[in-house]
Amino acid sequence: MAGEPQADCLFCKIVAGEVPATVVRETDTTVAFRDINPQAPSHVLVIPKAHHRDAAALAAEAPETVADLLREAGRVAADERIDETGYRVVFNTGSGAGQTVFHAHAHVLGGRGLAWPPG
Ligand code: 5GP
Repeated sequence: MAGEPQADCLFCKIVAGEVPATVVRETDTTVAFRDINPQAPSHVLVIPKAHHRDAAALAAEAPETVADLLREAGRVAADERIDETGYRVVFNTGSGAGQTVFHAHAHVLGGRGLAWPPG
């Protein structure tokens, strides 16, 4: 069922504390932790605690949590001091766009120049 923990989901295991992660922020509905393979000096993932397979599913199944996620992304950027220089919030959606973990997550990236268009 939408929102229920999935036994084979890496990010559900991080939410449950079964897989370690460097958590930088946590709310009732979200967790933010450092990406294990950072693509920028600051690279934090913000995820809903509930399982939704991607950003579109999250928006359809728990729209109020989308606001929580984006609010937390902004707070991460402020904590990381990348809010003034600029940062990027990315939702890779679908394997063709690079999504590898099918539990919705926002990448918060900053601390270096960010080219546009992205690769
Ligand atoms: P995606 O490719 O789905 O957009 O993003 C998944 C992200 O999860 C990748 O940037 C990858 O480096 C990160 N990741 C994969 N496994 C782990 C892990 O075990 N711990 C952490 N902290 N990040 C992970």
